[in-house]
Amino acid sequence: MNAAANTFVWDQDFITGIELVDEQHRALVELFNRLSAAITHGQATDDTAADAVLDELADYARQHFADEEKLMSDAGLFPTYREAHVARHEQFIVQVATLRAAHRGRAGRPTAIVEFLVAWLGYHILGEDQAMARQISRMRAGDTAEQAYEAERTDASPRTSALLKAIGNLYQATIDLNHELAELNRRLETRVAARTAELDLVNDRLREANQRLTTLSRTDGLLDIANRAYLDEVMEVEWQRAMRNTHPIALLLADIDHFKLFNDTYGHIAGDDCLKAVAQAVGVHVHRPTDLLARYGGEELAILLPDTDLAGAQAIARDICAAIAELRIPHSESSYGVVTVSIGVAAFVPERDTTAEVVLSAADGALYVAKDGGRNRVAAAG
Ligand code: GH3
Ligand code: MG
Ligand code: MG
Repeated sequence: MNAAANTFVWDQDFITGIELVDEQHRALVELFNRLSAAITHGQATDDTAADAVLDELADYARQHFADEEKLMSDAGLFPTYREAHVARHEQFIVQVATLRAAHRGRAGRPTAIVEFLVAWLGYHILGEDQAMARQISRMRAGDTAEQAYEAERTDASPRTSALLKAIGNLYQATIDLNHELAELNRRLETRVAARTAELDLVNDRLREANQRLTTLSRTDGLLDIANRAYLDEVMEVEWQRAMRNTHPIALLLADIDHFKLFNDTYGHIAGDDCLKAVAQAVGVHVHRPTDLLARYGGEELAILLPDTDLAGAQAIARDICAAIAELRIPHSESSYGVVTVSIGVAAFVPERDTTAEVVLSAADGALYVAKDGGRNRVAAAG
């Protein structure tokens, strides 16, 4: 690679005189230059590629730090200095992680990564590692660890100190920027999470409200069973299903006998209560999940029985008819003395191109037959 293309130029000032450290520093700088070229020349502009670059560099730095820390400990450098140096290493690793997270998805990410690493390499190699090397050579010349540390503290080389200070400031600035960005990202994520939670809540409420509305639109308010509209809907679907499967489908129409007279005699409120009691008693005979009890009209109930033939439907109708009389709701104007119902029954295996209207009008016809026949009875169509 041509030197001019390098982001970080190796220089005599970087040599510490400690062979292992210098070797690793060179390797680190080369690795960094190679990676920064990849980042800035477009090979690593997406986040994943830039992440890989950062990871590779952090891995190498970690190994280098471990070697350097062992060296300082073997040389017996003054603990205060060693601790500060180790803390700087740890800070670097934390910074790489922050940097990795802070700039995700940002166009300026490659530049931010390169800027941070230039500042760090300069500061660390030119400053801290030189200080480490000088302390080691002072100790070799006879200084104690503390003397070497004190000498380093009070005797910074004027040649590099101005540059070091500048690089140190740059390094600090990139750290601050990383923190700000990471904090910004965190706040953004928190706000997004909060908004998502609010939206989820609103959606849940909407869904519940919709469910309530749907149920309401299908239910008869007085009797709390399905209404006519819902019966029509279900009946058509079941009719088509029965047609496809060539299964029978049955419909019962039950109508309270002389209900007008009941109202006239006992009042409308008593009429409502009677209607509720009748609907409840009919409901007892509606067992299967696909069976449907609905209010068909004023005092007329419909019971849709998919997969049921005429004989089966008649049996259920007779049970219902008997059960209503068994309620023994007094009805002085009826020849039976109690409230009774008449029931028309029809069952069909639907023929092609027919609608549920077929079974409905047949059951209605049968209901009139039951009324004509004296009420409190079941009549079947056909
Ligand atoms: P039939 O035996 O021939 O069916 O005689 P009916 O009197 O029952 O028949 P009709 O159709 O002449 O009268 C039905 C009555 O049902 C009239 C109406 O006021 C009453 N009715 C319909 N819906 C309600 C209701 O919700 N509450 C009350 N109390 N009465 C109702
Ligand atoms: Mg009636
Ligand atoms: Mg009626």
